[in-house]
Amino acid sequence: MMKGFMKKHPETGTGRTLKRAAAALREGGGIPDGLFRKCEVCGEISDTEAVIAAYHTCPACGHYFRIPPAGRLSMLLEPGSFEEWDMMMPASDPLSFPGYQEKISSYRGATGLDEAVVTGCGVIQGCRTAIGIMSGDFLMGSMGAVVGEKVTRLTERATQEGLPVILFCCSGGARMQEGMISLMQMAKTAQALKRHEQAGLLFVSVLTDPTMGGVTASFAMLGNVILAEPGALIGFAGPRVIEQTIGQKLPEGFQRAEFLQEHGMVDKIVPRNRLRQTLGFLLKSWERTERNGHETAGGLHALEEATSEDSPLSAWDRVRISRSQARPTALQYVGAVFERFLELHGDRAYGDDGAIIGGIAEIAGRYVTVIGQQKGRSAAENRRRNYGMPQPEGYRKALRLMKQAEQAGRPIICLVDTPGAFCGPEAEERGQGEAIASCLAEMSDLGVPVCTFLIGEGGSGGALALSLANEVYMLENAVYSILSPEGFASILWKDAKRAREAAGLMKITAAEQKKLGIIDGIIPEPKDNGVTVETLKETADTIRTTIVDFLERYEEMDGAAVRNQRYERFRKF
Ligand SMILES: [Zn+2]
Repeated sequence: MMKGFMKKHPETGTGRTLKRAAAALREGGGIPDGLFRKCEVCGEISDTEAVIAAYHTCPACGHYFRIPPAGRLSMLLEPGSFEEWDMMMPASDPLSFPGYQEKISSYRGATGLDEAVVTGCGVIQGCRTAIGIMSGDFLMGSMGAVVGEKVTRLTERATQEGLPVILFCCSGGARMQEGMISLMQMAKTAQALKRHEQAGLLFVSVLTDPTMGGVTASFAMLGNVILAEPGALIGFAGPRVIEQTIGQKLPEGFQRAEFLQEHGMVDKIVPRNRLRQTLGFLLKSWERTERNGHETAGGLHALEEATSEDSPLSAWDRVRISRSQARPTALQYVGAVFERFLELHGDRAYGDDGAIIGGIAEIAGRYVTVIGQQKGRSAAENRRRNYGMPQPEGYRKALRLMKQAEQAGRPIICLVDTPGAFCGPEAEERGQGEAIASCLAEMSDLGVPVCTFLIGEGGSGGALALSLANEVYMLENAVYSILSPEGFASILWKDAKRAREAAGLMKITAAEQKKLGIIDGIIPEPKDNGVTVETLKETADTIRTTIVDFLERYEEMDGAAVRNQRYERFRKF
């Protein structure tokens, strides 16, 4: 694993203590001349300085080298901010396993580390955080009692001090030489992290190559946000074990970070050069700060005045406009309304549904969770987005992000644009009805305020699943209905061609919904054909003002008041 020619480099930690290595880095002169690193993928030999400048990647092919803890800390933390915790804990050897103590000693000598994890606290982009970095070079980063204890103490102290936790995972799994005591570390770390979560604190798990076995099956997969490095091998059973079990070769890319994101297990794959920024954004989005310097907002009154009832457009005209390909999609609104947006993926169970997007956004100095239904604007994108018709895993992603928002105390903004939830056999197999019902039940219990905007089609239960909100707004040409007019005509009159007539009867326009008390306000659109990508700015500005005004109105309300207000809103129907 450790190459001879790397031995004296400070960032490898080799042959020195971590502290001395870190000190050498701080002094800035810690990179001796004449050191090179060979890439195990392309064979290129590069100057170590160039490798470090490229965030420990191969300058020739981009391959990710394993980063020792000191290098990782210096990449992420503000210089001089790291304070190490729980150094030099006595080694554990519960089985008195032959040769184990000698092995630990030799790894200590070779790596300059006392165990397979370094823990402490430091500052990332102005935010103080507890942080732990595992080292794959120390007995394959395996988790014995000392690793489990250090991670647990880090978490417990963070809970006490109200700090977030960031853990960089790199591990072959539980440490065999410590038998059942190793297995118990999975339980110990998981329960400490549960308490940390219950305190409303953020835990970010960053999965690096490789993260396997008992570490995957405990703290690595418990992040409120789970990030991964590109190409990292992540799994429970190792590829060789799986291949032996099934007697087949595994396909290329199996258990890689990209595979995990596609299967809903990872929030986001973040390249190394973006990690510090991404972590900084996440840390800030979990802080409950006092706000001032509010934008002034016109709010409800301005919107009500915009309601026009003598428009020449018929209900059917609006149905056609709401489905128009020229209309902006949810992600285009996100780009126009918010300053920054970090998209998060997956339901942590099955997949990442392209028909629902979600993440954390910044607006006027505040952080909100945004969840939207996403249509495509090209054939390929429409296939990927399933024409904006979510699958159960889409609703479960929305649900996960709502719970995450609740845990962080962050308000939620939903953008609805769907013909309806997907109707297909596979959606039924995975519980489409259950997924929508759970969204409704869980939304009703959120202590954070929720504001929903219907931006296009609001089709049935698939739209309602994101609309059990404290306030609901519709764009002037959006529609909101129990069923599509075609479906309605087909069921009631056995004639889908009478959709235009049905649309007129169903009371699906924004003005009609406002009269029924289903929505709270109407966002005006440009005359005639409504909002398009070209005219998006004006409409987006109104949505932005409405959101900021909403956030200000709910800012002082406690969780119980927010829940009650929402309960009464829907109780009246
Ligand atoms: Zn290379």
